[in-house]
Amino acid sequence: MKAPVKRGQNVQGRWSYPDAEWLQHHYVELGKTVKGLVNETGADRATVERWLAAAGVGRAPSGEGLDPPRRHGKGPGTKWTAPGREWLAHQHHVLGKSVNALADEVGASRDTALVWLQDARVEVRPAYEGSSKSRETQLDCFRRSDVPFECSWCGVGEGWMPGVKGRLQMHHRDHDPTNGKLTNLTWMCYVCNLLEAWLRTALEYGKIDLKCEGHTMVISFK
Ligand SMILES: [Zn+2]
Repeated sequence: MKAPVKRGQNVQGRWSYPDAEWLQHHYVELGKTVKGLVNETGADRATVERWLAAAGVGRAPSGEGLDPPRRHGKGPGTKWTAPGREWLAHQHHVLGKSVNALADEVGASRDTALVWLQDARVEVRPAYEGSSKSRETQLDCFRRSDVPFECSWCGVGEGWMPGVKGRLQMHHRDHDPTNGKLTNLTWMCYVCNLLEAWLRTALEYGKIDLKCEGHTMVISFK
């Protein structure tokens, strides 16, 4: 059995290919993933994939299909048959399940689920820690949250007002657009969002007094 050997020190260093036996042993019999081989050898992913392709070593295909993961045995050292690519893509992208949710649901660890996604080349959605400064990411995550899709002030849903094209808008409670924590986000309709912005400015410039009691708001002009 011939393990891969790196020749040269630079990053682009060439490798002497491991033989098919070594690959067969590590990849198929020990069930290591491509990522596992990357970690073990220090080669990059593309290199490991070239080795496998060149040696014609492959696992029974985990399938392009919709097969869910299958578990073999219990406790530590549990082995899995990876789910099919379509199953993963469907769960993660169509149903919007996070890596954690997906792993929890089948009883696998987060790391295992990540390896499935990476091995199947299903793009892993960025983990949302509420710290994204990107409006797109904030909006994407907020849409998938449990917050009801209605104006947090007046309660209307989308497309309620004839002639007003406005969609419900994502609103930052603290007016800091970089604070994407879910607790800082609400939906507001176009009109309420305008009203809120106007009230804030008018207060700031001392044009009004504002008194709020429950759902009642009293605006006094100065
Ligand atoms: Zn509203």
